[in-house]
Order: sequence, then C-alpha cells, then structure tokens
Amino acid sequence: MLGLAKRTNARIFQASTSGVYGNPHVHPQEETYWGFVNPIGPRSCYDEGKRCTETLFFGYNRQHKPEIKVARIFNTFGPGMSVSDGRVVSNFIVQAIRGEPFTLYGDGSQTRSFCYVDDLIDEFIKVMWSPLSLVRPYNLGNPVEYRMEELSSLILKLTDSDSEITHKDLPIDDPKQRQPDIQKAKRDLCWEPSFTLAEALARTIDYCRNELFV
Ligand code: UDP
Repeated sequence: MLGLAKRTNARIFQASTSGVYGNPHVHPQEETYWGFVNPIGPRSCYDEGKRCTETLFFGYNRQHKPEIKVARIFNTFGPGMSVSDGRVVSNFIVQAIRGEPFTLYGDGSQTRSFCYVDDLIDEFIKVMWSPLSLVRPYNLGNPVEYRMEELSSLILKLTDSDSEITHKDLPIDDPKQRQPDIQKAKRDLCWEPSFTLAEALARTIDYCRNELFV
C-alpha cells in the first residue's frame, strides 16, 4: 500500500491504535511515549502489528517521502458497531437490555477513555487534510477517563436496567489505564471531542435496542 501511495502520489492513512502504548507506565499517554508492550502475549499480534506498521510508514516516509498520516485511535464506539464485538461497551449495553448479568473483568478499577464515533470521524478528516509538513502520529480519542465499574453504573442508569454485576478474570495483559493526551491534536488540528460519554451512550443504546429488535 505504501508503494502504491508513492506511485500514485496519494496521501495514505494508517488507523493505528492506543495499543501501541501497551500497558502504559506513563499517564496520560503522549505521542512521544514509546509504550510498554508484551511482544509475545495474546494481545501482541494486534499491538505489535500496529507498531510494525507505524515503523514501515515512518521508514518509508524518510526514504521515499509519500504523504503519510498516522492516527492512534483510543477506545471508540457508537451506532454502526457490531453488537457482538465482545468489547466492553457493546457487552454491557446488550447485557443491560437483555437483563443479563454484566461481565465485569477484574475488580473494575481499570480505566479507559471512550470516544464517540462522530468525534473520531471528524478528526480523521482533519488529520487527512492537515498540512504535509505535519508528519507525526496523533492521539485520537476523548481524554475523559472512566473506571470500568463507573462505566457499568452509567450504562445501568441509562438503560434503567436491574442487571447484576458478575466479576470475571481479567484478561492477560489487560492495560490497567488508558487516557490520551490530545494537546497536539488540539494545537495542530484545532480538534477536540464534543460528545460526553452519557450523550454518546444514549445514542448507542438506542442503536443497540434497534439492532436487537427490542
Ligand atoms: N471488559 C469488561 N467486561 C467485558 C469486556 C471488557 O470488564 O465484558 C474490560 C476489559 O477487561 C478492559 C476494558 O473493559 O479492561 C475495555 O475492554 P475492551 O475490550 O472494550 O477494549 P480494550 O481492552 O481493547 O481497550
């Protein structure tokens, strides 16, 4: 794809991930942080795959100068997502709607920062239209951080559900905390997310109810 971008003079975008920071020891995560990734764990094919792609993008850019744009996407959700993707937002919403117990992994103190899909797309467009001189990865995400137990309470409230919480084992190498530092996106792209978690969840709950025919 990089070769094709060079031959056709096309700008090329890598949808990278907050996974490049692994289980971060620096908090919040700035783009300058190199991350803390287990290279052989069950998550490593994703995390290291994206890290390797970033390496190829920046190496290729140094050598051949194609127009690269790289975004490190933090947890994102919203209408259009698969209700069975197995991730926390869809799991909790579907469990709440069906009145099934929530599967909270570990003690629920681990954190994530959730971005609404419309905010993310808005920033994709800004990244792609940004000046050629801006050759650096950008964190894309909402910097407001929540514990998974807080997320479960919010979804219970918004769905008016009486689902109970069951604790399951924490997956191996599950990051303890995750929060993007978005200063560079704010400064260079004049971007910041506009949807609160509650607004974004309300829209996603409507979408999931529709998908599940309830
Ligand atoms: N999680 C959870 N219950 C679930 C699914 C996920 O408690 O049913 C937790 C998971 O352990 C992690 C967080 O929610 O700490 C976010 O998980 P997800 O898979 O959505 O995203 P990622 O771990 O890739 O950030």
